[in-house]
Amino acid sequence: GGTMVIGHLRVLGMKEPLGIDIAPAFSWELHEGDPNTLQTTYRIFVRKQSTGNVVWDSGTVESSDNAYIPYDGSALEGKTPYEWTVTVEDNHRNVAQGSSVFEIAMLHTEEWMSAWAESTLKVPKRKKGFGNQCPATYFRKSFTLDAVPRSARLYATCRGAYRLTVNGKRADTRELAPEYSSYEKVLYYQTYDVTNLLVAGKNVIGMCVADGWWFCPTTAISKKTAKGHHAVLFQLELHGENGALGLVTSMDDVKTSYGPILSSDLFAGEQYDARKELRGWDLPEFDDSSWGLTKPAALGFKNLRAQIGDPVRPVRELPAVRTYVSPKGEHIVDFGENVAGRVRMHVNAPKDTVITLEHFEVCDPEGNAYNNILGAAGIGGGVDQRVEYVSNGRAATYEESFSYQGFRFVRVTGLDLVRPEDFTAVVLSSSSEDIGSFSCSSDELNQLYANVRHSQTANLLSIPTDCPQREKAGWTGDIGIYARTALQNSDVSAFLMRWLQSVSADQAKNGSVPMVVPYNQQYRGTSLIMGITSGTFGDFGVSGWGDAAVIVPWTMYEVTGNLEVLRSQYSSMTAWCDYIISAAKKRGDKSLPREHEQHLWNTGFHYGEWLIPSTSRDGFDFKTMGSLLKETASYTVPAYSYRTLEMMARIAQVLGRDEDARTYSTEAQKVKAAIQACIIRDDGTVASDRMGAYAILLAFGLVPEELRGKTVNRLAMLIHENGDRLDTGFLATPFLLDALWENGERDLAWTLLMQPEAPSWLYEVRNGATTIWESWYGYKEDGTPADVSMNHYAFGCVADWMFKVIGGIRQDDPGFRHLTIAPVPGAGIVSAQRSFRTSNGWASASWSSDEDAFKLSVTIPCNARATVILPNGDSHEVGSGTYEFSCER
Ligand code: BGC
Repeated sequence: GGTMVIGHLRVLGMKEPLGIDIAPAFSWELHEGDPNTLQTTYRIFVRKQSTGNVVWDSGTVESSDNAYIPYDGSALEGKTPYEWTVTVEDNHRNVAQGSSVFEIAMLHTEEWMSAWAESTLKVPKRKKGFGNQCPATYFRKSFTLDAVPRSARLYATCRGAYRLTVNGKRADTRELAPEYSSYEKVLYYQTYDVTNLLVAGKNVIGMCVADGWWFCPTTAISKKTAKGHHAVLFQLELHGENGALGLVTSMDDVKTSYGPILSSDLFAGEQYDARKELRGWDLPEFDDSSWGLTKPAALGFKNLRAQIGDPVRPVRELPAVRTYVSPKGEHIVDFGENVAGRVRMHVNAPKDTVITLEHFEVCDPEGNAYNNILGAAGIGGGVDQRVEYVSNGRAATYEESFSYQGFRFVRVTGLDLVRPEDFTAVVLSSSSEDIGSFSCSSDELNQLYANVRHSQTANLLSIPTDCPQREKAGWTGDIGIYARTALQNSDVSAFLMRWLQSVSADQAKNGSVPMVVPYNQQYRGTSLIMGITSGTFGDFGVSGWGDAAVIVPWTMYEVTGNLEVLRSQYSSMTAWCDYIISAAKKRGDKSLPREHEQHLWNTGFHYGEWLIPSTSRDGFDFKTMGSLLKETASYTVPAYSYRTLEMMARIAQVLGRDEDARTYSTEAQKVKAAIQACIIRDDGTVASDRMGAYAILLAFGLVPEELRGKTVNRLAMLIHENGDRLDTGFLATPFLLDALWENGERDLAWTLLMQPEAPSWLYEVRNGATTIWESWYGYKEDGTPADVSMNHYAFGCVADWMFKVIGGIRQDDPGFRHLTIAPVPGAGIVSAQRSFRTSNGWASASWSSDEDAFKLSVTIPCNARATVILPNGDSHEVGSGTYEFSCER
């Protein structure tokens, strides 16, 4: 014994964060301990790195807690590195220690001793569509250093999207900084350690800035903000041997020029003219005498926040798998997988050659390029995602800089010879640290899981998006549904905390949360129209979508034990709940008894269940949509309201806010009573007789016990009548298999999971999907692609069910500190393995079964405990360690 060590030290879920402006919270894992290891005490010291002064000593705390322990010391200073050390003791009296660092960024606007530098170059009037944006602006600041500093931090941001270099070298691999957020209130800046990039003598900070989200006509907050000039803000702080401070800022002497990037739009793509390249523009020796000067601009510091969470980065590269000429004579490159990212190509073409890449997800039945992107962010027609490159006659490797596309294929024009070896897809994502794996004996389920992961990678890109091609939008409902699965695949806690800062920022005074966050002019317009059609004016929230403001933080807490997010989102969450309560009070249905009606939210615009397959066979049916949304909202809205209020009560309880807990619990009970009195009929059915209604009413515990059997029967009957295929949309699908599983219909749950005919998960797999589709059918009856996205993660939420039933790892408490390991063999699956990095470290279960025996191997991390249940019903209580079990089949 005695080998126990501390590992995986994290601050707010991040490894050694370089610049944070919110209070830290500390997590660690115990590794390699003796079997049955439990932490008995911990003690945390935080020291200022420069002086060694202790700013917090937690004292010895008798506790097994090891996740998100909040800092509780004296006030931390801005722009200051700290070291933290944690010492733990376990139940075997082993002691271990670990330490790590974090650095505070700016805490007050006064710490910005810089000024915004705004370009003075002429800005074209931006419009949607390819080539209609502003050229990228090159910003350059030269300065001289007498000596290399001991350490240097560069804080930088922009209006637009930037790439930063110091003396021609990038500080990291991030793309599309400063990330997408609700810019009016939250604009992130990035902190870079540039110590090793600086030299004695002449130095240059270079920032290349394109329109990004800020100016893009599709994503700009308002028409006004879409009009301005690119601008940069940076502050380089130099610390010498004697601690002396040097400062280089964007306050003065920043020069600008346009260059080869003629136009750049997040949706439409990028236009690049290599003949206009500015060779060496970010190196000290470059002659910038022809460049213009920027002007200082009062663009403010109030909205500046230190970025938390992973940046967008290249995470994978996919070489082209083949190229071919389509029946229409198009040169097509196939990357074999639908991704979000860019194409990198090698070009060696005569000067003035124009090479065009058009990105698309699917082909028509003959193999020609096909544009399935409905309205492509308002552009419409043709293949709307494009890159255009004009050769300068030299061999080059080109990859666009400030745009990304959703695609599997590109159509290439301008080259006679299109060779696979010249093309690589570079996958971009903010979701990089893998914390989960799943596989089993069914290749089709393995492909389904791979597709889930692909859609997750594609849609956790700066913010959680709905899809990477059509909208790239922060649809709240989608992440509300998918968060639980996302958090069990990759470490996206800090990423989601970042997005939640925008949720709070975009929340209206009345507590309503917009359906898309960050909110922008395009969706303000959509909301206005939807509001008018439903007689809802002003700020309004959409049930099942706005609920993400509560669902996402709660899910984060459940999966990771992150209490901090509940604290920081508390007022946002209660505001949304209060909005629900007051919205319900508006009288929508005078035929119902007022006593109950005042607790049923039955006014305003809602998406209802959204995308029920039988009602959206070939994509969206705009003719029937209105009445369908209304009809299904009759159950989704009250059911989701109940669930959110109930969740809020539990959140308040966890945080020790007992009065709030009572209030929300009482409100939840009133909604429940109203649902039981007014929506669920005596025979256990509801007026809107749909699978989704029964699935969520059952899963949310809303069906009175005495009617449960009838409701379950009706649900099963509807599924049978539909050929044992599901017919549920966004808000109900995550709960369908559970509703069946928990109510004695296990075989039916298996049947739906393994169903090969549409609508079903495996239909997509059998039809060559490499991602999760927005619509279950994907293609119209004649084989042409439906005008829907082929890369929407929402229905990938089934992975969560596969993890717990097939993989067999279930959580019993927040952070998976107590687990139930109970894999269930079924549907012909004879083996499976699931690993997941819980708040205590990796847990895994791996099983196989044949005619005679079921064998299970389990690993429980230190500081966790588990109940292992075998298929024959035997159960074992175990602590940390690795165990083998077997039983007769
Ligand atoms: C998006 C969604 C979103 C929905 C709202 C669609 O256009 O792609 O996934 O949640 O609109 O109903």
